[in-house]
Amino acid sequence: MKLDKPSQAALLRLSEVDLEIGHIKQEITKAIESKDLVDLRTKQSELAGELIAARTVVENLQSSQARADDDLHLVEERIAKDKDRLAHTSSPKDAQGLQSELESLQRRKSELEDAELELLAELENAQAVLAEVSARKEQNSKDLDSLQSQIQLTIDDLKTRGRKLTADREILVAKVSEEVLTKYSSLASRQVAVGQIENRSCTACRMGLTASVIDSIQDLVEDELAICPECQAFIVR
Ligand SMILES: [Zn+2]
Repeated sequence: MKLDKPSQAALLRLSEVDLEIGHIKQEITKAIESKDLVDLRTKQSELAGELIAARTVVENLQSSQARADDDLHLVEERIAKDKDRLAHTSSPKDAQGLQSELESLQRRKSELEDAELELLAELENAQAVLAEVSARKEQNSKDLDSLQSQIQLTIDDLKTRGRKLTADREILVAKVSEEVLTKYSSLASRQVAVGQIENRSCTACRMGLTASVIDSIQDLVEDELAICPECQAFIVR
């Protein structure tokens, strides 16, 4: 295939630009699929679950405590009422009955107070757990936000570079003939499409070339595109 010398240089640069664009696309995918990001998102939803569980424990203990409080008040009211009746009764039999009821109410009161103290300790514990889970969730959320903005910056930067290269590409494409471009595109879809000879090797496939192959490539007329016998890439001299 024929291609003049300046266009051959454009073809070589086009191949480099396309490899770079391909690399940028890979980098963008890699940034989007960041494992750290996936891990932080998984952690965030785990922590949301933990937070709901911790909050439920606190709420349940709070309602148990409210119920225990009500029970205690009820007993205290009955104690006050019985004491009042005891102070005003003239019947020794009634007084005896009230005394015994008061003793049993006092026992009940003391049991309820113990239970309430226990509930209070459990509640304090549960509130500490809730605060700790909540702090961890907040920190994770901060880490997630920060990683997301960092990834966004990387992607924006890659896209800017990609846009510049795409603009370069358009200029380079215009310098290469239709025939060469068609062959180039088909090659570039599966391999490095353009190489040079460096250290007696093809830079597209890294294979060493024999002296006779190199000689025959050097002997071609200037505007004839050489082809690597190993990988079929265009060889630009
Ligand atoms: Zn090659």
